[in-house]
Amino acid sequence: MTTTSETETTESDHPPTSIPVGDTTEECPYCALDVPDKTQYRLHLGVEHYERLADAERERFHEAYRAEADALDRFRIIALGGLVLLYFGFLLVYALLAA
Ligand SMILES: [Zn+2]
Repeated sequence: MTTTSETETTESDHPPTSIPVGDTTEECPYCALDVPDKTQYRLHLGVEHYERLADAERERFHEAYRAEADALDRFRIIALGGLVLLYFGFLLVYALLAA
């Protein structure tokens, strides 16, 4: 749990963000938004400033986007598997108790 004294808050037209003091950030050169790591920095550039990016930066955005989409797909499969196991677990318990 973090307290207000452990974080710095930036104010702009972006949603408020808090980054723990001592963590390094990447600052967007176009809108001065601080993002916590390289992957989120690349995703922010691609989503918010795609027209201003060079081809190499656009390619890095596409790589980060694909990696994020793959991670989301893995999460969805694991979540679906968990729900199926939970469903059949409850069904099995019900069948054993109702017999
Ligand atoms: Zn930006």
